Amino acid sequence: IPIEVTTDNVDTVAEQHYPLCMLHLHNYLRRNHHLKYDCKMQLGIFLKWVGMPYEDMLVFWKEEFTQVMTEEKYEKEYVYLFKHQYGKVGSKLQYKPYTCERIQSFTPAVNQEHGCPFKHWDQSSLSAKLEEELGGDYEQLQDIEDLVREKHYVGACNKYLCYKNPAASSSEPIASPNEYVQKSMLSDL
Ligand code: SF4
Repeated sequence: IPIEVTTDNVDTVAEQHYPLCMLHLHNYLRRNHHLKYDCKMQLGIFLKWVGMPYEDMLVFWKEEFTQVMTEEKYEKEYVYLFKHQYGKVGSKLQYKPYTCERIQSFTPAVNQEHGCPFKHWDQSSLSAKLEEELGGDYEQLQDIEDLVREKHYVGACNKYLCYKNPAASSSEPIASPNEYVQKSMLSDL
């Protein structure tokens, strides 16, 4: 990853370089100051692999969660998972980054936010989000939505990346959110 992702720049990096699956979780967390377990896993392991330093990661989650709970509750019930994701406590497991295939295999319930928007969102929510991110270029939106209809979800995400950041068009297709960020950032250099 060419740019270090820190608590200072994470909002800008998310807006410019996160794929929709992670941008959605990031924005949801900023708005609600809370995420359910599967979402914390999807976003937390991603943060580790985009290279957010351990100390920044601790600040990032704490600043959000302590807006809706006491610091004591957070330290007692929540921080362990984030330390565990970074391999610092417990079994010191080194989690691998989630692939798109894995994220798309999840079955998020209606009130859950994890998963892949190209696969799991209803058509009108996805269209609205694509329009918000890409502007109202009808042909671009159609191209992406055609791929979604054909169930080529990773293809749709690759197309979205190329429209959002045209310099990424020449690179190999992505197969994970972490690859997405890397390609999006590299194409900016
Ligand atoms: Fe995320 Fe992969 Fe879905 Fe893109 S295709 S939104 S990177 S899970």
